[in-house]
Amino acid sequence: MNSGFLKHLQGELDGIAEAGMLKRERQITGPQGGRIAVGHRTMVNLCANNYLGLADHPEIATSAIDAIQHYGFGMASVRFICGTLDLHRELEQATAKFLGKDDSILFAACFDANGGLFESLLGPEDAIISDALNHASIIDGVRLSKAKRYRYGSSDMDDLEDQLKLAVLEGSRFRLIVTDGVFSMDGHIAKLAEIRALADKYDAIIAVDDCHATGHLGPKGRGTGALTGAEVDIITGTFGKTLGGAMGGFIAGPQQAIDLLRQRARPYLFSNALAPAVAAGSLKALELADKADDLRATLMAHTRRFRAGLAEAGFDLLEGETPIIPVMLGEATKAQDLAAALDKRGVYVAGFFFPVVPKGKARIRTQMSAALSQDDVDFAIGAFAEAGRELGII
Ligand SMILES: *Cc1c(COP(=O)(O)O)cnc(C)c1O
Repeated sequence: MNSGFLKHLQGELDGIAEAGMLKRERQITGPQGGRIAVGHRTMVNLCANNYLGLADHPEIATSAIDAIQHYGFGMASVRFICGTLDLHRELEQATAKFLGKDDSILFAACFDANGGLFESLLGPEDAIISDALNHASIIDGVRLSKAKRYRYGSSDMDDLEDQLKLAVLEGSRFRLIVTDGVFSMDGHIAKLAEIRALADKYDAIIAVDDCHATGHLGPKGRGTGALTGAEVDIITGTFGKTLGGAMGGFIAGPQQAIDLLRQRARPYLFSNALAPAVAAGSLKALELADKADDLRATLMAHTRRFRAGLAEAGFDLLEGETPIIPVMLGEATKAQDLAAALDKRGVYVAGFFFPVVPKGKARIRTQMSAALSQDDVDFAIGAFAEAGRELGII
């Protein structure tokens, strides 16, 4: 291969490392859970999206194994050729029912769902008004569409109204507001009731990416729309977080939107159907999530306890009420040092820094899980306090 090109790539890597921004992957040697095996150690895990602790649930594993025995391992086809199982339709209908929508459509990931949503439903005459802190997959999906793009400051309702006015003034046919339901890096909940009011005022449609909410937030885990009492028109989400944590994404919404996505969404049309084991496990996860008021209560109790413990120790936290609790540290190296000091103490966390979060806003994003015990939570608070003092952070 062209040696200049490889040298260029090495230079890029060196630059990332010198800036203290190299991401290193640690290997977990057992199931995802509240405590995980990392090599020969057991660690308290504070960074999975395993909110209800379903990732290693025995009933889900059994459903997946049964599906492999019945349907085999893979589909070797896209959905519209010969890749649609009765199981796929069952999962789509169960997802729609869970979210109170007409229907839903599956994707290999929510990244793909967001990649297919905008281009399929909107044309150059239309406008997309997008929150500045939306997930990378929304940003990419919006870029792929021919609709005119407007961006508003995150959760800034005055700015959203200005952008809606502008979109009307500039002659848009349809307007679609898109936002994360929970902003994954900050843990903040979108102001959906206010967004709904503005959407009604300017005749706009609302799409919410509820990856960090479906299954664990809101009454019965119905997500941020239910939590805020706001009607949301289109919901995108994942089976890769609360709902079993394997993989797979979906879009739920009105029948016509789902039917058109089935005809047009490129990540749906040109990518393999979900593996039977994943579909069956996710279906079981949905069923368990529906009944999981106890797990949701545990999750929220841990959230309050951990938040209070860290605040009392003197850490700078972002305010919020979701199980995402960001510990703000500023520089990337500080986040990495604290992560390393916590690793030594048996607490598994990850530092987040640019480009995942803005420069100078590095953090350790902790996440609570119903898989943790109260002792695990207290252990983690103690480790944070010790490590924080050692590094002079608190
Ligand atoms: C995790 C996440 C995604 C991606 O979901 P996958 O199913 O893992 O591709 C998309 N949007 C948001 C807001 C997320 O948090």
